[in-house]
Amino acid sequence: MVVIGLTGGIGSGKSTVASILAGMGATVIDADKVGHEVYCPGGPAWQDVVTAFGKGILNDTNEIDRQKLAKIVFGNPEALAKLNAILHPRMYRMVEERIKKARQRGDKVVVLEAALLIEAGWRLLVDEVWVMVAPVEKVVRRLKDKKGVAEEDARARIRVQLAAEELQKHADVVIKNNGSLEELKEKVGHQWQVLSERKGNDC
Ligand code: ATP
Repeated sequence: MVVIGLTGGIGSGKSTVASILAGMGATVIDADKVGHEVYCPGGPAWQDVVTAFGKGILNDTNEIDRQKLAKIVFGNPEALAKLNAILHPRMYRMVEERIKKARQRGDKVVVLEAALLIEAGWRLLVDEVWVMVAPVEKVVRRLKDKKGVAEEDARARIRVQLAAEELQKHADVVIKNNGSLEELKEKVGHQWQVLSERKGNDC
């Protein structure tokens, strides 16, 4: 089995590529979804997050209101570090568990889609790293047109993330998402082919 860590900046095309790879037979683990599960009441981080940030972050049904939490940690590096110190190790263990299950099932390729793969120290979980890069202007336009993200918000989020050049230093494969969706599919198909040849996988 090969485990691919798929990462890249906001709106660079990670989810799009993950779903293309799923269509080719890969098992996808979405770190965002794991992040949601870890927060659930009864989930592994709920109690510690509430203890750290107070009951004011809960909604009527005792769920952690991620918007409220985001307001507390955005622009407050200390609070963000505190939150990440609670979440990341728990998410790491959940992902590790899922990879283990995939191995037991005999899956051939697992894709871990994680924006913060490098920053969260998840490199050790994967065999290779695929980095998505896309021109800033295209990302801003796609986020605006397709996800309704305001231009200024998109630019602010791009400013605080790891620079594409920095991220690429960790890459085994770089996928440049600078063209159409068809072109992206072709590039991913090519990498899939290369992967099969490199790993001797019948995927
Ligand atoms: P996020 O960081 O927000 O999770 P992401 O890296 O997963 O984003 P996607 O959600 O895959 O990125 O892509 C962002 C948006 O851009 C989506 O609406 C997607 O359909 C669109 N998109 C991605 N690549 C292309 C492309 N080559 N051509 C046109 N639209 C694209």
